[in-house]
Amino acid sequence: MTLTAGVVAVQGDVSEHADAIRNAAAEHDREVEVREIRTSGHVPDCDLLLLPGGESTTISRLLHREGIAEEIRAHVADDKPVLATCAGLIVASTDANDDRVETLDVLDVTVERNAFGRQKDSFEAPLDVTGLDEPFPAVFIRAPLIESVGDATVLAEWDGRPVAVRDGSVVGTSFHPELTPDWRLHDLAFFDRLLTDA
Ligand code: GLN
Repeated sequence: MTLTAGVVAVQGDVSEHADAIRNAAAEHDREVEVREIRTSGHVPDCDLLLLPGGESTTISRLLHREGIAEEIRAHVADDKPVLATCAGLIVASTDANDDRVETLDVLDVTVERNAFGRQKDSFEAPLDVTGLDEPFPAVFIRAPLIESVGDATVLAEWDGRPVAVRDGSVVGTSFHPELTPDWRLHDLAFFDRLLTDA
């Protein structure tokens, strides 16, 4: 059966995520159709969902305005996998410490936006991630800090702070796993779970 993947595309570039999803699927001999989500009505068809980075204030506003926010909540309530990266993690969280971000409340963490500094402070670091054999090259760009972790499990830390977490079917990363040609995080978030459930 062909899987349907949705990449939320209300803001920002999505092609790197689409490539990573296709590569991870190919690794498991699975067919996947990747759809860009800009309006409501498509998320219910998706087996897996990706919430990319960008600007969390803008993304959350558009998700609510377009009626996509409720559909994402229903997707998670159905225990279907989500990977939320950087601004996506902020939007997925329970509390972004910023009134301009209306969070989705699907990932039980509180975050602080831009806590790793400005654009010029972007950096790459090798991360040990639970479930991966070798360190993952993580790119941090105006990344959020995961301030506190409620019901979520920490998958990776940088400098003693959580930077990758899992809460049920939702995986969140402070960094951008799509910016290096390494799709193991997409694999961990999506296919580990879909294949286990199959
Ligand atoms: N700084 C952005 C925000 O707070 C996130 C940056 C990113 O996604 N690279 O929304």
